[in-house]
Amino acid sequence: MNFKHLGLIDPILQALSDKSYTDPTPIQIQAIPVVLEGKDLLGIAQTGTGKTAAFAIPIIQRLENDKHVNRNRKIRSLVITPTRELAIQIHENFKAYSKHTDLKSNVIFGGVKQGSQVNRLKAGTDILVATPGRLLDLMNQKLVSIQNIEYFVLDEADRMLDMGFIHDIKKIIQQLPIERQTLFFSATMPENIVELSRKILKNPVRVEVSPVSTAAETVQQFICHTNKDLKKELLVHLIKERNIKQVLIFERTKHGADKIARFLIKQKIKAAAIHGDKAQNHRQKVLDQFKNGELTALVATDIAARGIDIDRLQYVINLDIPNISETYVHRIGRVGRAGETGTAISIAEPEEKGFLKDIEKLINKKIEVLEGHPFPQTDKVMTKEEKKAFEAEKQRRKKEFFENRKKSGNFRR
Ligand code: AMP
Repeated sequence: MNFKHLGLIDPILQALSDKSYTDPTPIQIQAIPVVLEGKDLLGIAQTGTGKTAAFAIPIIQRLENDKHVNRNRKIRSLVITPTRELAIQIHENFKAYSKHTDLKSNVIFGGVKQGSQVNRLKAGTDILVATPGRLLDLMNQKLVSIQNIEYFVLDEADRMLDMGFIHDIKKIIQQLPIERQTLFFSATMPENIVELSRKILKNPVRVEVSPVSTAAETVQQFICHTNKDLKKELLVHLIKERNIKQVLIFERTKHGADKIARFLIKQKIKAAAIHGDKAQNHRQKVLDQFKNGELTALVATDIAARGIDIDRLQYVINLDIPNISETYVHRIGRVGRAGETGTAISIAEPEEKGFLKDIEKLINKKIEVLEGHPFPQTDKVMTKEEKKAFEAEKQRRKKEFFENRKKSGNFRR
């Protein structure tokens, strides 16, 4: 199957060929015809499956095919997504796939002044990609109208709810026209998401690709056992020994991420940290530098890394083992995208052995241990004290996780 078989118009085929994409991914094969037919869609797919193109391409085609209706450049398509990084990426996707048409897309998100976003909107836009908070703000100020939306996409619905956006979403939906086509994407379908999807979709076609745990199958995974105070040195050793050119490093705390980035710079590795305390324009700058190869290492916290999409990223290194196993799968899902291979190395200290077991249970496989590095763990068997420390650490991290989740409702601006 290649893109030509999906009945796409020439300007889109040309854009896909510019990106050297020939074959659609499974979610694209399933979703594109459904959307082209005008049906509502319930897509169960996570980032990394090619889901952005699965909705962007058919929306562009439908808009392009009846562009005469929009002489005033009213917004006809709205995509809501939970984070700024995702919003920027989706907008970039729309721009790339529509570059041989004269459709215009725009993006709005919080954390920056609204002025330049508003000015760009005034020039008219066909497609708007937005985070919920900023969209509502601009709607309330009557700077954006969503009354003419024909195609509405709710992206990453499960994360949206996790991040406390449910009320914002409901307010937005209330103002959408009833006559519209709706596409709803979520990686998981817990009860509250099923309920929300029922409220906003009409006779949807359901398409589903690889559940969260199978993403782990395309990535080569390794564990290095060491002690807490040797993790940084082992990290540097791995980067140098493997001659790694680009690596996304996960670190649990913001403070830790800064510290690691500083340590790497001292070791002559070009590095920067990205987390929620950094200003949005700094985050974007660092991300761009990482994408275009000016930085070797990007040290990120989980929230900052959500949805970060780096073409051809080959390495992820975990400096801590997540206590929530799904977080591990999300992290390693940053590599091995769209069928490419990737490597994930996790650096574990004795207290984290229990977390590893949970992860291996979820992904249903044993992670290979990398032996023979110069910083081996000095005491491999967990002593009674370590076990006690592990349990205490587990409780502490659980509490921290749920507190962060509660707080993340304020994360939007
Ligand atoms: P997404 O799931 O939308 O975040 O996409 C994951 C990655 O796959 C992005 O880097 C896309 O640019 C890339 N991608 C999407 N569709 C294709 C395709 N048909 N062939 C190759 N790469 C693709």
